[in-house]
Amino acid sequence: MSGKPIAPGGTVGILGGGQLGRMLASAAAEMGLHVHIYCPDENPPAAEVAAHYTRAEYEDEAALIRFAESVDAVTYEFENVPAETARILSEHGIVRPGPIALATAQDRIVEKNFMKAQGILTAPYADITDETSLKDAVESIGCPSVLKTRRFGYDGKGQAKIASPEEALAAYDEIGRQPAILEGFVKFEREISVIVARGIDGQTAAYDPVENIHKNHILDRTLAPAELPKAVADEACAIAARIASELDYVGVMGVEMFLLPEAGSKRRLLVNEIAPRVHNSGHWTMDACAVSQFEQHMRAVCGWPLGHPRRHSDAVMTNLIGDEVNEWERLATEPDTSVHLYGKAEARPGRKMGHATRLYTLGKRPPVTPS
Ligand code: AMP
Repeated sequence: MSGKPIAPGGTVGILGGGQLGRMLASAAAEMGLHVHIYCPDENPPAAEVAAHYTRAEYEDEAALIRFAESVDAVTYEFENVPAETARILSEHGIVRPGPIALATAQDRIVEKNFMKAQGILTAPYADITDETSLKDAVESIGCPSVLKTRRFGYDGKGQAKIASPEEALAAYDEIGRQPAILEGFVKFEREISVIVARGIDGQTAAYDPVENIHKNHILDRTLAPAELPKAVADEACAIAARIASELDYVGVMGVEMFLLPEAGSKRRLLVNEIAPRVHNSGHWTMDACAVSQFEQHMRAVCGWPLGHPRRHSDAVMTNLIGDEVNEWERLATEPDTSVHLYGKAEARPGRKMGHATRLYTLGKRPPVTPS
């Protein structure tokens, strides 16, 4: 891996054209970099703010090679980049983060095995390949538990809860009898996440842990910072940094964790999953930190020094899902609130259309109760 930074004037390729790509492209532009978006969709939100856009399939080898050769480094804004696509790109250029991180994050079993090998706690889990392994796992892990497809799950999709052993087969049918993982259902107190960055020199920088509140399996609000004892917050950041280091990661990563209610114990944190990319629970950094997660990712990918992850303000980030985007005009009248819209034409239910971040003086964020 080259240690020479990609200087202003250079070009970063981004695989994927959604809102994460759009915010990465805007951050790159602020750094004097050019961005080339590669995406199979028509009119992707990211292309609107990028210098170059290739519309092609992720399986189009010739287009991928042209793309890799036209940029100084390639990164991505979604984790389900096909392995073959990543292989072709890395044969023809620099890809950051690298293939180990992708392979680990794409498969829930590989991900959990990785955590186990690191001594990092997770929910109890078992590999499900057929009805027999499912029956055995339900017996050993117990109920309630949750059955998840190993691959391609997001926002609660590809998941089915199992309240009692009799429901196991129906849950298996519900997820299409795909290769799966059974996880013990964790009685967590809160869900938190850490956005961590790792540079090409191995330095890491973690933003303070935040609390995430979900509605209909989709992130609704992020509270920054999460209210945690310092030892727990430090432990969460240390876990995230260790994961990034062990994966030889370059870029920004989101690490989702469950906080268990045992007060005072250091072993209160279970890792749920990692996202090898910028993360929705890091959007607040755009307004509450000198260097946002998007700039931080571009800095890491380009071999620049990482920015300091400290906050100048506390924040509450609220996602605008579907019709909620119609609130933009009212939100724009709110003091200390920044409204970010993704330029998507159609506000379908469940679609992330934008987000709003309200800033508070450090230490003055009001407690927010789940809606
Ligand atoms: P995931 O796609 O794994 O992030 O799961 C989506 C959401 O489902 C999480 O944010 C949790 O709210 C919930 N969830 C997932 N796995 C578990 C588990 N093992 N125990 C309890 N809740 C879970």
